[in-house]
Order: sequence, then structure tokens, then C-alpha cells
Amino acid sequence: VSDLPVVIVGNGVAGMACARKLARLGGSPLVVGPGLPYDRPPLTKKALVTGARPVGDAKSLSARGIELLDGIAESVDVDARRVRVRTAGGDVEVDGAAIVLALGLRYQPPQVSGLEDAHVNATPQGFARLAPTLADGPKRVLIIGAGLIGTETAATLAGCGHSVTLVDFEERPLHRLHDPIPQIALETLQALGVTFFGGVEIVGAALGPSAVVSTASHDDIETEVVIAATGGRLPELSGIALPFPLRVDESMRVPELESIYAIGDCAAPPFADFGRIRLPHWDAAIGMGDRAADTIMADDDRAFDRLPYWWSDIGTRTISEVGDASVVVEWVVQDGLHLGRDGDGRIACVFLADDPKRLRAARELLTAARSGGLGANAYG
Ligand SMILES: Cc1cc2nc3c(=O)[nH]c(=O)nc-3n(C[C@H](O)[C@H](O)[C@H](O)COP(=O)(O)OP(=O)(O)OC[C@H]3O[C@@H](n4cnc5c(N)ncnc54)[C@H](O)[C@@H]3O)c2cc1C
Repeated sequence: VSDLPVVIVGNGVAGMACARKLARLGGSPLVVGPGLPYDRPPLTKKALVTGARPVGDAKSLSARGIELLDGIAESVDVDARRVRVRTAGGDVEVDGAAIVLALGLRYQPPQVSGLEDAHVNATPQGFARLAPTLADGPKRVLIIGAGLIGTETAATLAGCGHSVTLVDFEERPLHRLHDPIPQIALETLQALGVTFFGGVEIVGAALGPSAVVSTASHDDIETEVVIAATGGRLPELSGIALPFPLRVDESMRVPELESIYAIGDCAAPPFADFGRIRLPHWDAAIGMGDRAADTIMADDDRAFDRLPYWWSDIGTRTISEVGDASVVVEWVVQDGLHLGRDGDGRIACVFLADDPKRLRAARELLTAARSGGLGANAYG
């Protein structure tokens, strides 16, 4: 048995889930990441109202068997299982019995001249910079990007009394998601007083207390706070030559690299009955973190049978979904549940609008359908 810790690179949702499970199972996790660990979903929701709080500090986590190393991993030597970390006190090297990569995605403003210093609330560091600018009274806020992060942020800030404009290249918010989600988002934003402009291309900006953002399609937009919510990009890490998202097996191992695991948004695992999906959402990150810990402690080779699941709160509206919408060719509404069938007529996805209490029923329905309990025509 090695005395070395399990080095987890990344102190977000997946990394902390893995650390908690390892500690519960008697392992010694060392979590590398900048600052204290924070959960992510609150950053677009409750934290904009009440402030962001870390999930623990170094002392409380250490008491639970989790050690933190405040820094950024610069490179990994996969053969030596050694991670080089840049810390405030200089570079350090840590050796691990195993290394778990939990790097998440990178959130930065788009590469448009003048937008370099736009706010980004998707990370704890960006959130900490944004929060004081919103603290002293209602502001005019421009949010660039109407994906889940931009749409949720717009709804929350409008609900707090800010005057919010949301813009996107596309004509509808949440355009990548299936109907009726974009329509739900649009109606909710309108009810909250958010001004949404679609078909907008930002071409330049002059930021400051009175910011001006120029578009190719509309007039200039004058505002006080600019938030970029243009999506996350896949990470890179020196020493990891394989492309991200890393294709892991059902135990979260990177098959090509001994004792290296990958979890969360930087990995694509094979979901039992669904195949390999990249699902950059909270529940999948927790599930992958748990599974990596199980494998490290007990060589767990079971199928990864977590159901794909995500949710979003847009103001007072809640949408939730289990399964894989990307393979759905037909949606039918049955008893308030939106059922998506794949090309073989099997139920592949169940979508719920404002009905989180029925999530369990949706899960059971999908599980039964996937295990063959429900035929292609069981629901209509
Ligand atoms: C603002 C926001 C709101 C969300 N809301 C929802 C929601 O409502 N519902 C839902 O289902 N999902 C939601 N998600 C998605 C969900 O939170 C993510 O899928 C989840 O956080 C992924 O976990 P992760 O650990 O892979 O990445 P993250 O939680 O992003 O953590 C990655 C961590 O790795 C660190 N890191 C990166 N590179 C290095 C390095 N080289 N060295 C050290 N550390 C490094 C980063 O600083 C970061 O702390 C939301 C995501 C965001 C960003």
C-alpha cells in the first residue's frame, strides 16, 4: 500500500466529490487548485443574491481527511505520477499514488478587442471580481451569450432589480437545446424584464464605469457592467498529450495512462445503456468523482450506471432532464412529461418543465425503458 496521496488536479465539483469519497473510504486525497473550493451552480443563481461561500476551508477539510494545495498544476509527468504546481511560494512537485484530472472547462471573455477585462461569473475568481460591482444599487448589465450560464445569470440579476440586456449570435436563448426550452427561457426572461437581442455580433468594446459595446448588427450598447458568458473551452495540461475531453473507461481510468484518471467536464465516460457522452453538468461530475474514488480504493470495474441528468433554474422556472437528448428524433408529451424517442423508438430522454417532484418518476420511467421493461410503443 502506497503512503503517497491521491493527487487530484482541480478543486471544483468533480475533484471535491472524488476527494470526499476517497476520504470516506480511508484514502488520502490531496486537492490541487487555486484558492478554496466552491460549488458552481450557485454562481449563476443564489450566490448572486447572497454571495458565494466556499464548500470548506483548509482546516475543516483537513479534519475530514482532505488536504488542499493552493496553486495551479503546470505539468504532469505521467510515468513518475508527479505533478508540478505553481504556488504563491514558488513551484513545488507532488508525487501521487494515482493522479485524478478534474480540470473542468476554461471560462474567458471572447477574443474581441476591448472585451479582455469583461467579467466572467462562471469561476469563483471571476465571481469575486464581479460581486462588488453589483453591490451598490441596481446597475445596467450587459450579458454576452445566452447559453445556460448567461440565461440563468440574466434571470437572477433581473430578479434582483438590475436592468439586464442579454445578447447572442442566435435568435433565441438556449438555442442549442430542444423545444420547448428556448421558448421557456424567452418567456421567463421577458416576464422578468430582461431585454434579449438575438442575431448580435459583438465587434468591439470600451469597458469602464460607462462601457460601450459595439455590434455589427445593432446600435452600440451603453452599459455599466459587462459579463461574458460565451461558454467553456476544453482545458490543456502539459504532459497530457491525449486530446480533451479525455475518453475514460467505466471506472474513470484513462486507459492509455497507468494510474491516471479523469473526471468531470474534462472527461467523456461511457454511460451504461447510453454510450459515451460528454455531459458537462453537476450530477455527472459528482458521479464520476465518486466512481474514480471507488476504483482507486477497490478496483471497481462495474458499468457506469449513473443516469445522465442535468437541471437549470431560470428565475423561478426549473427545467430538468434525464437521458440523452442528442439522440432523440421525436418528442411526445405524455401526462406532462416530455418523452424523447431515439431512432429505434426507445425512450432515450425525459424532460420536465417546472415539475422537479416528478424527477424520480422520470428516472424510473427511463430506467425501465432502457432495461427493456417498456416497449417502443409503451407511451403512445
Ligand atoms: C456557473 C455555473 C453554473 C452551473 N449550473 C449548473 C446547473 O444549474 N445544473 C447543472 O446540472 N450543472 C451546472 N453547471 C455545470 C457543473 O457545475 C459542472 O459540470 C461541474 O462544475 C463540473 O465539475 P468539474 O470539477 O469538472 O469542473 P469545475 O467545477 O469547473 O472545476 C474545475 C476546477 O479545476 C481547476 N483547475 C483547472 N485547471 C487547473 C490546473 N491546471 N491546476 C489546478 N486546478 C485547475 C479550476 O480552477 C476549477 O476550480 C454549472 C457550471 C457553471 C460554471
